[in-house]
Amino acid sequence: MQVHIDASAIRDNIRVLGERLDSPVMAVVKANAYGHGALTAARAALEGGATWLACADTGEALALRAAGITAPILAWLQSDDPRFAEAAAASIDLGISTHAQLERAAEVGARVHLKVDTGLGRNGFPLGTWPVVAGRAADLQREDRLRVVGIFSHVSGTSPESDLAQLAAFDDALSVASGLEPDEVHIAASSFAIGTPAARGTLVRLGIASYGLHPDGSPNHDGAAGRALGIRPAMRVTARVADGLLDAGVRHGLLTPLGGAALPVRVADRMVMLSELGEWQSTIDGPDGEAVLFGDPARDEPSAEAWASAAGTISYEVVTRMRPTRPAKVAA
Ligand SMILES: *Cc1c(COP(=O)(O)O)cnc(C)c1O
Repeated sequence: MQVHIDASAIRDNIRVLGERLDSPVMAVVKANAYGHGALTAARAALEGGATWLACADTGEALALRAAGITAPILAWLQSDDPRFAEAAAASIDLGISTHAQLERAAEVGARVHLKVDTGLGRNGFPLGTWPVVAGRAADLQREDRLRVVGIFSHVSGTSPESDLAQLAAFDDALSVASGLEPDEVHIAASSFAIGTPAARGTLVRLGIASYGLHPDGSPNHDGAAGRALGIRPAMRVTARVADGLLDAGVRHGLLTPLGGAALPVRVADRMVMLSELGEWQSTIDGPDGEAVLFGDPARDEPSAEAWASAAGTISYEVVTRMRPTRPAKVAA
């Protein structure tokens, strides 16, 4: 089984989306860039004009710095033992969601983005405590102990109504904190950024769309929605078929289809449906040759979205879980 990454697709996707959304782009490279390789994706995104990178934690961000990436980086998900001092020394911006994190950030003189929980309930300061937090952050900033670079939030995407309600709550939170004068205010990930111009703030945080997958993936098996946006998938997964055995299985990270569903695989210009996966190899009723598991539907390859819906999940999971036994082949 082999994962192929087309770095030029990431670069082009970022460029096209930045122009289409008319917004600076923060490219989200958390979780090893959704399985695409954090450093490969970071470099491609910056070539495509991204002005920011985002990681989940300080460890991921420090790894990019160690590899020579100098662009602004935000790390927003702080573990119990975040490497704040190292991160601040490496000019990594910290996403701050608790009082304790705010005080620790002040101890190391960090650049921070304060996260408001506008209703998603995952992390961020609850709206009830926000005025106190904004006041404390203003004091710390006045004393030159930290710098509030940004204020941000994240929406659930459960319904357009709830997302718009969260956008309104975010606007309220921004007015409460207007004294902080942050350079960046940001709430939109791929779906909200693409669907709702009012949500774009000073930058959009693009994860899944950067990798060429439409955020509203499930009805998009043929890739038409992605093509309409001008993006193309950056990941392609192939495996050999010999004597009815496909050289890929669940141990490579492939998701098993739901009962009754099957995974489309293209072998020698034929679509073959795969209904059961083995550990490292799977039985397939098709000709010998090189199989494409998923890739670009514009090239008559199955899509990651089709795999996601057969497995009852989202394309994010399909690409992020890939565990090839050989390193990905990267094409510039
Ligand atoms: C993962 C993540 C994103 C990117 O989401 P996509 O839907 O992949 O664009 C943006 N913001 C936050 C806070 C995230 O955790």
